[in-house]
Amino acid sequence: MKIAIIGAGVIGSATAWEFLREGHDVMLLEARDGPGLGTSYANGGQLSYDYVAPLADPGVFQDLPKWLLNPASPLRFRPQLDPRQWSWLIAFLKASNSVTAKASTTALLQLSYLSRDTLHAWLAETPIEFHYKKNGKLIAFRSPELLDKARQQVEYQATQGSRQRILNRDEAVAVEPALAQLGQSLAGCVHTPTEEVGDCYLFTRGLFEHVRNHPSGTVHTNAQVVRLNRRDGKVTSAQLANGDLIEADHFVVANGLQGYDLLKQHGETVQLYGLKGYSLSIPLPTEAGVDEGSTSVAPSISVTDYERRTVYAKLGNTLRVAAMVDIGDRSNAIRPERIRHLKDVVQKSFPALNVEAAEAWAGERPATPEGRPIVSRSRKYENLWLNLGHGALGFTLACGSAVLLHALVSGRPAPINHAPFEAR
Ligand SMILES: Cc1cc2nc3c(=O)[nH]c(=O)nc-3n(C[C@H](O)[C@H](O)[C@H](O)COP(=O)(O)OP(=O)(O)OC[C@H]3O[C@@H](n4cnc5c(N)ncnc54)[C@H](O)[C@@H]3O)c2cc1C
Repeated sequence: MKIAIIGAGVIGSATAWEFLREGHDVMLLEARDGPGLGTSYANGGQLSYDYVAPLADPGVFQDLPKWLLNPASPLRFRPQLDPRQWSWLIAFLKASNSVTAKASTTALLQLSYLSRDTLHAWLAETPIEFHYKKNGKLIAFRSPELLDKARQQVEYQATQGSRQRILNRDEAVAVEPALAQLGQSLAGCVHTPTEEVGDCYLFTRGLFEHVRNHPSGTVHTNAQVVRLNRRDGKVTSAQLANGDLIEADHFVVANGLQGYDLLKQHGETVQLYGLKGYSLSIPLPTEAGVDEGSTSVAPSISVTDYERRTVYAKLGNTLRVAAMVDIGDRSNAIRPERIRHLKDVVQKSFPALNVEAAEAWAGERPATPEGRPIVSRSRKYENLWLNLGHGALGFTLACGSAVLLHALVSGRPAPINHAPFEAR
């Protein structure tokens, strides 16, 4: 089969690699002059297999006033006169109930475990250098009440195969000495020894190079798909901005947030909205992130500061910090006041870090209201497929989504229940 994949972010590149591994001819089409330069560029670096609970959760109703009124809140909502925003928000609020949140968590855990196993298999076969580490994750709680609530989630996730445990402050500092800097404000942590980190951009670029070098793979950069030509309920070709036509047996829309416009143009609406976030890439003093006196200045294992909604991942000589969900910002411009706020949060937690030397970045998470991606056949065209809407978890879910989509296209039994990921 000949497959054309639109978009070379982490999702499109992983999809291309899976189809090549399974013996198909693949064309990977990317609008920019290289892969991974969209949302996959400087994200939080977390391969967060056990931490997939969606943002749509009953607690949203309690938090909403804070998001609206507090400009320093890690989650911020700017209402716009935009029907797309309101339609997404209504669906998001509808999904914010415990039944849907639990069902989404269960489905996402299945997809993330599939992703983890797939990533391990791919790397054993074909290595990629992307500062990948299997070093576990600590979710740090300052409030004892929230730590207690986390205990319930840990107990529920244990029934789904997750291996997590609760640590008190001293146990957490023994696992990650840099947390001593939080002082007595640290109540405890959820420790998940199986979590991993890596640089999503380097991973995407590595996959893209594997596709380029494969005898059945071709890559096209500066190749923006502007239209899908159709006949008799099928897509016949993808038209590029320069007028070229790309023909294939199947087409995969994997161009992240921009998938919304491409599909809408052809009469298919998906609930996809950009949730803007920021990251800082902070240079570390030494490779180990440890200063002369061996006091850790930065966490060396992955840490999430739960109340500040901030994640930390050490990627080589850099500490990647990611945070914030801004709903309704409508651009990926870097807002100085949000960066200042993020730098202050990081500096208060880890005072020895040189936050002023950080490189700042902003990106928009391509999010569905329920927090579940769409990995599915299009509702309108029989040879058009969607791999979209991975929200805050695209790096984590990329390999599993690629395997699931390949099974659906090739008519094989799906490795997990695919119903929760159908186009909706
Ligand atoms: C601040 C922040 C932190 C995050 N942290 C994490 C994390 O720690 N772990 C995690 O798992 N996820 C994280 N994410 C989410 C993750 O980055 C995204 O889910 C993921 O990058 C989405 O990948 P994608 O391939 O769908 O989109 P993109 O990376 O945006 O790729 C889409 C590609 O399609 C191309 N394109 C667009 N339109 C066209 C067209 N018409 N023709 C051809 N090409 C086109 C674009 O140029 C782009 O390269 C984070 C996101 C943000 C913003």
